[in-house]
This record gives sequence, structure tokens and C-alpha cells, in this order.
Amino acid sequence: MKKLILALNAYPVLPAHSPGESMNDWLRKAIGTLSSDQRRSADTHMIKLDLPRLGGIDLYLKDESTHPTGSLKHRLARSLFLHAICSGKITQDTPIVEASSGSTAISEAYFARLLGLHFTAVMPRSTAPRKIEQIERLGGHCHFVDHGPAVYAEAENLARRCNGHYMDQFTHAEAATDWRGNNNIAESIFTQLALEPHPIPRAIVMSAGTGGTSATLGRYLRYQGHATRLVGVDPENSVFYDSYHHGDRNLTTEACSRIEGIGRPRVEASFLPEVIDEMRRVPDAASIATIHWLEARIGKKAGGSTGTNLWGALSLAREMRERGETGSIVTLMCDGGERYLETYYNPRWIAEQIGDTSLYARMLEDID
Ligand SMILES: *Cc1c(COP(=O)(O)O)cnc(C)c1O
Repeated sequence: MKKLILALNAYPVLPAHSPGESMNDWLRKAIGTLSSDQRRSADTHMIKLDLPRLGGIDLYLKDESTHPTGSLKHRLARSLFLHAICSGKITQDTPIVEASSGSTAISEAYFARLLGLHFTAVMPRSTAPRKIEQIERLGGHCHFVDHGPAVYAEAENLARRCNGHYMDQFTHAEAATDWRGNNNIAESIFTQLALEPHPIPRAIVMSAGTGGTSATLGRYLRYQGHATRLVGVDPENSVFYDSYHHGDRNLTTEACSRIEGIGRPRVEASFLPEVIDEMRRVPDAASIATIHWLEARIGKKAGGSTGTNLWGALSLAREMRERGETGSIVTLMCDGGERYLETYYNPRWIAEQIGDTSLYARMLEDID
């Protein structure tokens, strides 16, 4: 118990509202709390990969693993809370409910705690104990369902029963983020590249989970009139790729993506194909080979979606080299690999779940 209290105290908490305090006082305090969390945060680093054989082509990896809650979902969670508070959906007593077993629940638990709000993550019973621990350490509650796809309806029901707010990341991600600027991820990328040899990248490569990040990147590129192409990458067992190519938003699959955070069984509302210039499929074995290749280069472990992104970026770089072109390419490190030691960094899990990755490992050796 002592350990738990110590862990909880490690995070700042918004003082509970006092009797007589008006709604507006809480609102001002809540917005102030979210703004100061942002102000305390440094921008995430842009790692420049050193690949001499790609002479004249610069590859950058924006490292989103350094957010306080370890992934790019820190940005999304802050935006979702701000959007819902300013839309009048969340006040000082509103319980928050989300359907997520992943990084979103961890980031939302962090912000709920900052704001003094009750948070429940609805997740499959099979969720890894490590994640449950992380959510509970941040003061969140976990509510389990037996069957994975049941999480959405259960979260909606639970929110209705407790008079709470269902955050619904897959619907609201694209609208919650301020796409014109306000130091969103796109603006940050362009500011950080300003003094580079090729400050306007030829391409930005991004996978989709909610689709929110690619929506923000694509809208920003259009708004600014940049010539940068937005290239979407999709893992196996996901409908985004086929939906993009056939223009069908109703596609579904029974399969479940093996790359955590990306690839979905349905076309989520936040996925905006209209702002994506090109979409490619990346084999899961290539994604896994790429994170091991990356670790050997920079000494950092990344999650599987970073492998999908980077495989896409490296493929583009190889094509540019073949055409004799120069320029820069940007992609994201969405989260770190420490969350996946039992899976993507466990040779037995890889052999059983993914299969042989050596073909892709050899292709990567050819790049540098
Ligand atoms: C959510 C997520 C993504 C995809 O980002 P979206 O903006 O939701 O499309 C990629 N990688 C990881 C690890 C994620 O959690």
C-alpha cells in the first residue's frame, strides 16, 4: 500500500474543487492545468539517422516516446480532454470512460488524474498485466470484458450508466487536434527542420490507429501549401489499406493487427483518406526486422508501429536513391520498445507469431 501511495504522489494533482466554487473556476483551473502540463514539456527530439550509403537523402525520426506517458497518445489525450472540456462535455464531476487497452488509456489516465477526474478504461480481460498496472498506477480503473470487440458498446453503456463521458478516441481524434498549428506535431516537425539541408521533406510517412495523426499532418501540409507527400503505411490484418484503394469505408475484418497501436478491423471515423497522397502495405515481419535494425543503429528500442513507419520511409529512400534524387524524409517513433520486451523483443514470440524476418533483415543491411 505504501508503495502505491508513493507512486501516486509522483504525479501532480489538481486540488479538488472546494464548496462554493463555481463551474467557471473549475474550468479556468482545468484549462490552466492542461496548459501548464504542455509548458513543462520539452518538444520531442528529431533523431537524424546516419546512413552514409543514402548520401544526399536525410532520414528523420521524431521521437514521441519521450512524452511523460511514453507515446504520441500523450498529445491525443491532452487534445481530447481540452476539446471535451471546452465543448462542455466534461465538468468537475464527470467520470471519464474510454475503450482502450493500449497507450491511449495510459495517457488519458495521466490527464484524468491531473484534473482530479475519475477514469475507467474498458479493456479485454486478456490485456497484458503490465498495462493494467500502468493504468492503475496513474489512478485509473480497469473494467474488463470477455470479448475484445465488445469494448466499444460496453464503454458507451458504462458512461451512460454513470453519467460520464465516453472519450471515443477513434471518432474524435481527427477533430480534437488543432490542425492549423498551435505547435501540433506537424508544425513542430517543420520548425525543427528549418536549419536542415532539406527543410521541406519530400515525404512524411505515418501509419494509422485512430488515423488522427495522419489527418493532422495531411491538413497541415495542405494549409501551408507544402509540396511534401503524406505516405500512409498499414500493417497486415487491417482494413485501412484496402479501404483507401477501393474507396470503401464499410470494410471490416475479423482479424486482429499484430502491430500494437496501428491497423484496425474497421475504418475508423478519424481516418481521412482524402489527405493521404499514397498508401502502402508493410509486412509485419518487415516492421519487426526494422525495429531490430534500428536498435543496432541507435541503441534504442521502439514499438512495432515505428518499424512499420520506418520500413515505409526506408523504402521511399531507396526509390529516391535509384532515381538519383536527394531530399529529406520524416517519420515517427510512436512509442518505445520497453513495453514490448515479451513480444517484439522476444525471439520465441517472434518465431511463433510473426515467423521468419531474415529476408527483411537482409534487405535492411543493403540500405546502409
Ligand atoms: C495510436 C498509435 C499510433 C497511430 O496514431 P494515430 O494518430 O492514432 O493514427 C501509432 N503507434 C502507436 C504505438 C500508437 O499508440
